[in-house]
Amino acid sequence: MAKIRMTTPLVEMDGDEMTRIIWQLIKDELINPFVDLKTEYYDLGLPKRDETGDQITKDAANAIKKYGVGVKCATITPNQQRMSEYNLHSMWKSPNGTIRAILDGTVFRAPILIDEIKPVVKNWKKPITIARHAYGDIYKATEYRVPGEGKAELVFTDKEGKETFRETVYDFECPGVLQGSYNKDSSIQSFARACFNYALSTKQSLWFSTKDTISKKYDHTFKDIFAKIFEEEYKAKFEEAGIEYFYTLIDDAVARVIRSEGGFIWACKNYDGDVMSDMVSTAFGSLAMMTSVLVSPDGNYEYEAAHGTVTRHYYRYLENNKDLSVTSTNPMATIYAWTGALNKRGEMDNIPELCDFAKKLEAACIATLKQGKMTKDLVGLWEGSKPTQLDTKAFILAIRENLEKALA
Ligand code: NAP
Ligand code: MG
Repeated sequence: MAKIRMTTPLVEMDGDEMTRIIWQLIKDELINPFVDLKTEYYDLGLPKRDETGDQITKDAANAIKKYGVGVKCATITPNQQRMSEYNLHSMWKSPNGTIRAILDGTVFRAPILIDEIKPVVKNWKKPITIARHAYGDIYKATEYRVPGEGKAELVFTDKEGKETFRETVYDFECPGVLQGSYNKDSSIQSFARACFNYALSTKQSLWFSTKDTISKKYDHTFKDIFAKIFEEEYKAKFEEAGIEYFYTLIDDAVARVIRSEGGFIWACKNYDGDVMSDMVSTAFGSLAMMTSVLVSPDGNYEYEAAHGTVTRHYYRYLENNKDLSVTSTNPMATIYAWTGALNKRGEMDNIPELCDFAKKLEAACIATLKQGKMTKDLVGLWEGSKPTQLDTKAFILAIRENLEKALA
């Protein structure tokens, strides 16, 4: 069988630990035999980031801007313990944070669903995608532990140095806490466009919620910016696609989400998205089945798994003389990162065979699970006929068998 040809490269970002091993297995067994894979390779593994002073992460992000599509393996975000483990020159920032800042993107997380793994919420039939605004609010706030009596004020001084706003926040009669947070119109606009574009590209309706009734300037601005951009740029396109934009108060959204059957995108402010994405992913089953894509307002896409490098499994693998059969790490979300990226590349470059291959690979993954073959994390969640637990490599080989059948 002739391999599927690509015209434009994918930006391939390798990573760390268990997911780095899975990365190679996926390429060797599930992609390279079938696709004449063209990638521009960036090694974002921690040793290479350290060696290049993290320049490689910035280069990778800029390459995504150039080519439009990237696929990323999970990477270590260094902390104190990693400093000594890897003998690092510096505590490099989170690669995801760096890439997000360069692409100015919004993160969308969606679960991979299969009938035999029932969501905790019985009526959820279709995926719920959370779009999290990954900028500002409490994540960039200034905080103060108020020691005792005194006055807290909010002051704004304009560019010319003129004080244009001053209001008392609270006259403290005792110790307390104080916080100043901000966001920017430009970032909220990017967030809105990324959400509207993603809704169109996946043909799902978009919900957005804030606490605008209480926060009449801060949250209300989010609501207004979304409404204006929708009206001016997206309304007609949404009608054409048969999807809708729906704004509601966050309390109401929570109630509606629980009662819904899924199948929509829920856009959330930064903190809401942080909390809700963990709740939704847990309720759907497993972090190992959660996909993630970063979409920039100018239409660049970066695909990855939502989980990390699965350090605990990696250490066990190392302790057992690099024996892969001692771990049963789930490669599903990482495979879906590849299929997401290949499918998008196929769409952008008009290569239907590539899109078709991506769909068949996803179908082969689902077919393998339906045969009862799965990794350890899913065995406990499985409600189908008796599951067989496989190690990562055996699971990937079982997927390959189904993929070969589908392509024959
Ligand atoms: P993690 O790698 O997501 O793993 C946490 C636990 O979740 C694992 O120990 C495992 O549970 C389970 N798990 C996650 N993915 C799994 C999979 N594919 N198959 C089976 N089980 C899976 O999170 P972490 O241990 O907190 O972080 C490890 C490293 O990843 C850190 O250095 C962190 O900086 C990095 N990280 C990177 C990203 C990213 O690049 N996007 C995201 C998050 C974290 P059991 O051990 O109980 O089996
Ligand atoms: Mg969280």
